[in-house]
Amino acid sequence: MVKCSFCSNDAILFQSYSQKFFCGKHLSDLTEKRVGSNMRKHGMIRNRSRIGVAISGGKDSLAMLYIMHALLKKDRSRKLIAITIDEGIRGYRDAGIKCAKAFCKTLGIEHHVYSFKDFAVPMDTIMKKKHGDPCSYCGVFRRWILNKASRKLKLDALAIGHNLDDVAQTFQMNIMRNEPLRIARFTPNGGLVDCDDFVPRIRPLFSVPEREIVAYALHNKIEFHNAECPYAHMALRNPIRDFINSMEEKYPGTKFRMLNTYLSLLEKLPHQEGLEISECEECGEPSSVKTCKRCEMLAKLKRDTRGVGPRKLK
Ligand code: SF4
Repeated sequence: MVKCSFCSNDAILFQSYSQKFFCGKHLSDLTEKRVGSNMRKHGMIRNRSRIGVAISGGKDSLAMLYIMHALLKKDRSRKLIAITIDEGIRGYRDAGIKCAKAFCKTLGIEHHVYSFKDFAVPMDTIMKKKHGDPCSYCGVFRRWILNKASRKLKLDALAIGHNLDDVAQTFQMNIMRNEPLRIARFTPNGGLVDCDDFVPRIRPLFSVPEREIVAYALHNKIEFHNAECPYAHMALRNPIRDFINSMEEKYPGTKFRMLNTYLSLLEKLPHQEGLEISECEECGEPSSVKTCKRCEMLAKLKRDTRGVGPRKLK
């Protein structure tokens, strides 16, 4: 058995970009250190007391909640509140919600579930009637509900479990789609638009590779939901993930180099001071255009499917 590069324990992971082997304990220490340093360096919880954590029941979000809970449990000035979105994907999301609920109960963390069926249209209903990229609907509806729920729960920030792989893929996708504004908005801490109605998103895992989070979760016996979404194979993200993974294999450190390029670019992008945020004419949520993307998509779905719609319009 190969040994850890830092002690005599058996290794559970090889980091090709550092050429080091890690046992469970040293990998855990490194992961927690990275998350803590991301939070401090980017001021993710500075002057913020009610911190939301978006959890799906998967490895990333539960590992993030576990680490944040460990880092903040002695801090009486801060409270963690977990939120799960039920996208309405039978046999997939229900199992994730079960894991999320059980995990929050173990840690003693308040947990809320909000559903597409109340504020949008369940993904199963959309996919019965339509073809195309399911993730574009899912992403827009999820972001809209998360923001609304975060305001309702009076959160000062909302933590999202995006890891290094997600950041590299999103960066690459936004380049390929020619969406520089989306690059500007996908920041480790908040976005470039200051608006009280947008609850800032924080990404404490943004520099942690996905495979290290899996190893961390397994080592710490976190019971996460490990299935793949039945619509994931249709997503544009898949070929991009494969491409970046193959580059990482050939050229270790590729994902970190992409992250560093993205962080340097962020510093150079101008603040979107000129961008006026008002209210969507349909739902009253913050929007830079007359009708927000969620309401535009709902109207299109209603036309195409003859009438599907949310239970609660606003
Ligand atoms: Fe939604 Fe796409 Fe994720 Fe499935 S893979 S949960 S459709 S974003």
